[in-house]
Amino acid sequence: MVSSRSILFAAIGIIIAYTFGYRMLIRGQYKPKNCVFCNALDRIVYEDDEFIAFHDIKPDAALHLLVIPRVHFGTIKELKPEDLPMIGRMQDIGKRLLEEQGFSGDNARFGFHRPPFNSIHHLHMHCLGLPFKPKRAEKMFPKNGSRWFMTTAQLVEKMSAETAP
Ligand SMILES: [Zn+2]
Ligand SMILES: [Zn+2]
Repeated sequence: MVSSRSILFAAIGIIIAYTFGYRMLIRGQYKPKNCVFCNALDRIVYEDDEFIAFHDIKPDAALHLLVIPRVHFGTIKELKPEDLPMIGRMQDIGKRLLEEQGFSGDNARFGFHRPPFNSIHHLHMHCLGLPFKPKRAEKMFPKNGSRWFMTTAQLVEKMSAETAP
């Protein structure tokens, strides 16, 4: 005989599982099978427990790396104010890797796609060591951002404003 109590527990269990599952999906722990950045990656130049950096398969500049978090975020739209330190660490990694190859200051550019203009649906920071190759590739990653590209500095500024009390 099924008591009303066990039905209640089952209902609570389902609610918790649903909520937790949903949170996992939203907050990046869920790894879609068909996401190329969640799965086998090659051309890796750096990795640690949290991040991987690798060469873009179709380079648009003298040096073109991508830095991604291992956890799956789709786009910058999914980021919460508490993800700001993560973006900071991605920036540090990208900057260091570019500097090691002699790209800094105006010769280094960092940024993210603005949805819906994202290529791969896994958060990734483009790290570009200039010049652009071919030159017209700059249109995709303009210095001051655009409707389809947000520089890392702009993203940090936006997220910082959201964190401010
Ligand atoms: Zn992914
Ligand atoms: Zn991209």
